[in-house]
Amino acid sequence: MALPSLCDVLLSKQADMVERLREYVVFESPSHDKDALDGLARVIGAHFEAVGADVEYVPNMTGGDHLCARWGAGTERPAFILGHFDTVWPAGTLARQPFRVEDGLAFGPGTYDMKSGLVMAEFALWALRALSLHPPRPVVVLFTSDEEIGSPTTRGWIEAQAQKSAYALVLEPPLPDGVLKTARKGVGKFTIEVDGKSAHAGIEPDKGVNAIVELAHQVLAIQALARPPETTINVGVIQGGTMTNVVPAQANAWVDVRVASRAEAERVENALHALRPVLPGATVKVTGRYNRPPMERTTGIQALFESAREVGLAVGQELSEGATGGASDGNFTASVGLPTLDGLGARGAGAHAVNEHIVIDSLPERAALIAALLMKL
Ligand SMILES: [Zn+2]
Repeated sequence: MALPSLCDVLLSKQADMVERLREYVVFESPSHDKDALDGLARVIGAHFEAVGADVEYVPNMTGGDHLCARWGAGTERPAFILGHFDTVWPAGTLARQPFRVEDGLAFGPGTYDMKSGLVMAEFALWALRALSLHPPRPVVVLFTSDEEIGSPTTRGWIEAQAQKSAYALVLEPPLPDGVLKTARKGVGKFTIEVDGKSAHAGIEPDKGVNAIVELAHQVLAIQALARPPETTINVGVIQGGTMTNVVPAQANAWVDVRVASRAEAERVENALHALRPVLPGATVKVTGRYNRPPMERTTGIQALFESAREVGLAVGQELSEGATGGASDGNFTASVGLPTLDGLGARGAGAHAVNEHIVIDSLPERAALIAALLMKL
């Protein structure tokens, strides 16, 4: 079996991989810029066509088009590779944070999250072709344009493909030192709206119902629902009142909920909806939902990781796994029961931060790993 030669052939392409990363990074692609996203999808698609994929652009009226590349042959359930090409960075970021290579690192917006992942998938397919290696399953690659805003137009599409697939490889950034992600928390966003009654704070404060005081009671009750580290709750924003001499009639809070299990997701959601006002005359209204369910470390995911660990050893890489509080589209594939390995992106640091970068050595390393996984899983 020619698995170790994957490493050699990809190592010889390292400079090309860096160049491809540069091409993608200098093509800025914020989640809300349809023209940019449509354009970048086609640039990426052309490179996938060049390695033998059938590329389809999935039209999106409300945002950037998405990309689906099908590669390889056979009637087995496909391997599902998932990534996104939108970034959190607004257009013009590049002027302040240009793409640059320094000391074996490549810096720039979207290098780590996750344009390097797109590059690795392409070069993995390239290497398989170059070595005439034929994976046992066809490969379906989905690259989406709206992951960073919660995947409003792609969730159904991802879940449908997940139901038809054998396993999913997600190209998101790993934990520090390249550790794969086999569990992710689910994320809920909830809004608490409190109505009270305004009154003059000096003349007849007793006629008022202080919405801020009511909200303060609610905030403490909400925080008490947390069970860290598995379930964390962050009342991240509050707003209320108008003037210091007015009893406030209105106050709102916005809450981020992270849960490691479905059971916890339900417990917290039910408790939020059961919140009742403490002050007579106040009302409390709770809205919101989970936008990504938790990715739980199922037996299917454990088994997939164990197999991947053995494949890793065959290409000289020691893989380890961990959990994260952040969510990705891997939450969707896992939640429909598909064994999912996430965090297959390049080693690096600084997702969504000004020091965002990847370790260049990890480009060929991870591409070889992905190619080997496609051969063996
Ligand atoms: Zn990402």
